[in-house]
Amino acid sequence: MTKALIIGGGIAGPVTAMALQKAGIDSVVYEAYRTGADDVGAFMTIMNNGFDALNAIEADKPVLQASFPADRALFWSGSGKRLGEAPIGGGSAGAYGPHTIKRAELYRVLHDEAARRGIKIEHGMRLDDVDTGLENGVVATFEDGSRQVGDLLIGADGIHSATREIIDPHAPEPRYTGTVVLCGYARQAPVEPLPGVYRMIYGKRVFFAYTTAPDGETWWFVNLPRPELSKAELASTSLDEWKRQATALLRRDRSPAASIVEASEQIRASNGYDIASTPRWHAGRMIVIGDAAHAAAPNAGHGASMAMEDAVVLAKCLRDAPEVVAAFRAYEQQRRERVERLVATSARMGGTATPGPIKRIIRDIAIRKRLEGGPRNTAAWLTQHHVDWTD
Ligand SMILES: Cc1cc2nc3c(=O)[nH]c(=O)nc-3n(C[C@H](O)[C@H](O)[C@H](O)COP(=O)(O)OP(=O)(O)OC[C@H]3O[C@@H](n4cnc5c(N)ncnc54)[C@H](O)[C@@H]3O)c2cc1C
Repeated sequence: MTKALIIGGGIAGPVTAMALQKAGIDSVVYEAYRTGADDVGAFMTIMNNGFDALNAIEADKPVLQASFPADRALFWSGSGKRLGEAPIGGGSAGAYGPHTIKRAELYRVLHDEAARRGIKIEHGMRLDDVDTGLENGVVATFEDGSRQVGDLLIGADGIHSATREIIDPHAPEPRYTGTVVLCGYARQAPVEPLPGVYRMIYGKRVFFAYTTAPDGETWWFVNLPRPELSKAELASTSLDEWKRQATALLRRDRSPAASIVEASEQIRASNGYDIASTPRWHAGRMIVIGDAAHAAAPNAGHGASMAMEDAVVLAKCLRDAPEVVAAFRAYEQQRRERVERLVATSARMGGTATPGPIKRIIRDIAIRKRLEGGPRNTAAWLTQHHVDWTD
């Protein structure tokens, strides 16, 4: 039986393992972190296309159960003017609709589901190198010196992928988007709870959004324009310091944003990155998928859903192609245009979030006009994507 080594136990990793199992291919997932994974404090939205991909391998229900629907957005300007409202995902949210979940919770649910299906996820295994010297296989070496042999290797190891660099040492580095994303949680925020809704403020300096979790907690995020932070700086910046930096910008707006930040018990920061295009996705019997191949800035809220699609489409290609390299080629042909379009779309959305004063006025008028026109299906190409396991 074919055995795949999957590097990375985030989103693409466990979903690929489940999809491969359905395709009759054995795999083991190797995750660098001893428990959970890196950068787990953020929350995210899973879109219809992500659930659709999970549905193809009967894994949509646990994620639906662990997440909560929030499918409407209300918009304000920084001067407190109501700009309008719209369904998240435009007029094409799909059968599932957008759901919100903490990253840590999503990882846990996917791991539990994979484990329930008998899939092995080994923690504390950080990929160091891959030897492709075998005629029909790969040997992965991990930082602890251990080695694993497989027929192919799938790098689902995220934006700072080691696999990507092994495939192509000249692969472009992730590009810093110019904003640090703060995600925060406040149990007693001074706002009316409004479940099912994101309230979004196109502020004078920054874009801020918040929603109400089922237990009444307020979850929020803000994109702070500032220089990139090192890992050590990200880890050592205190809650109070983040509050100070965020509120200094948010106080300029007539909105509850600064008070919500003040009331927060937890704030998690991450640098925003994207990768416009990775020229080589595969070499020999190694391939990268998910953020390792095509990371989008968080603005469009679609990176996780794309990683789910990738996982299921790759498994289908491996199921159907006569051999591994042909499967990789078929996969790239099906995926490249779509995922690179998302990266470009998400980068453009970031550009509109923090313009200067004149552009801001124009932006607010444009947003209001657009919202008055009612829901548009501009996101249909993203959310309506369907993976048919049987074709
Ligand atoms: C602040 C923020 C908000 C976001 N919001 C959204 C959102 O609302 N909706 C959305 O769809 N997407 C969102 N995203 C993007 C989304 O998180 C990613 O697109 C998604 O996590 C990609 O999944 P992945 O499995 O490819 O990578 P990851 O989830 O990053 O998983 C990669 C895994 O590989 C492991 N790993 C790394 N290196 C190694 C190694 N050498 N050996 C072994 N294991 C390794 C990591 O520890 C990690 O567990 C957001 C991202 C950020 C930063």
